[in-house]
Amino acid sequence: MAESEFDIIRHYFAGHRSSRDDVMVGIGDDAALLQVPPGRVLAVCMDTLVAGVHFPLETTAAGIGHKALAVNLSDLAAMGAEPAWATLALTVPDNDATWLASFSDAFFALADRYAVQLVGGDTTRGPLAVTVQAHGFVTPGKALRRQGARPGERIYVTGTLGDAGLALRMTDPGDSWLRTRLDFPEPRIEAGLVLRDYASAAIDISDGLLADLGHLLEGDRLGASLRIDALPRSEAFLEAMQVLDPDRRGVYYELPLSAGDDYELCFTVAEKYCGEMEARLAGIPGGCRWIGVVEAAPGIRCYRDDGSPYRPSVIGYQHFSSTP
Ligand code: ADP
Ligand code: MG
Repeated sequence: MAESEFDIIRHYFAGHRSSRDDVMVGIGDDAALLQVPPGRVLAVCMDTLVAGVHFPLETTAAGIGHKALAVNLSDLAAMGAEPAWATLALTVPDNDATWLASFSDAFFALADRYAVQLVGGDTTRGPLAVTVQAHGFVTPGKALRRQGARPGERIYVTGTLGDAGLALRMTDPGDSWLRTRLDFPEPRIEAGLVLRDYASAAIDISDGLLADLGHLLEGDRLGASLRIDALPRSEAFLEAMQVLDPDRRGVYYELPLSAGDDYELCFTVAEKYCGEMEARLAGIPGGCRWIGVVEAAPGIRCYRDDGSPYRPSVIGYQHFSSTP
């Protein structure tokens, strides 16, 4: 071990210049001291990425650094929260200077884009695992929740679905755009902030559309019907479909419905707000697409454009099921 834990913190994390007015004490003391703006409340979330479980073992350090923060910012986006601070618990097998430098560069590149300040953490040696906790602000009563959808409301998603899932299934995704979607997901922060004015409920899609939409609906004991030909698919996704052999074409429906790791938002909007909401999201990266309708009868029903029902074979990624 060339450097001690303290050297790692100093070299790669404490030195980064970022100064938010609301950070009284950041990295370096026993705890950070942070000021929540008057009239606002703290939104706090945490996600762990374990090597080989949440990202392929060959993932670049930059991909891991970006994704560890991105998946947390995605949770803040799904709450309609404005991101502010992060803490980082980093477990690394050794002190690989190149690895640490690209990890922290990618972490800070994303953090700086959203004015997020790293205010503390913990550094340990062991099998590679990264835990980030993100903190943001919401105005009481204005946060987006998983509960709150009503029958008749429209269901939307941002961006495109199935890209990350497809990258995971490709034998050699290389540096392709799909691989970038897997390793460098874009947290939909701007969309989440706009949606505070329109959405009745929201969730981010980490485990697959059916699984996460299911979580959004289950609290209110609701169901939905989905137009599965309308699910947004990227050009790269559609191109890859062309070269798949015909009996693997089922992934055209399965991946956008069930693959995880897209980190898009899924949300519900009452019809009277849809026009205005669509106009505002049209100017934001990713945009949004209307994919279905909330219904009173529990369960998610999928239909093709010709009206025929479709039965998905997998629901979504489940961390503790024996058949993921
Ligand atoms: P303690 O022994 O009191 O827990 P540490 O030596 O673990 O202190 O950490 C020293 C300081 O460095 C603390 O302010 C802590 O929050 C910060 N820190 C440790 N690891 C990281 C990291 N990976 N990223 C950012 N800050 C870190
Ligand atoms: Mg510590």
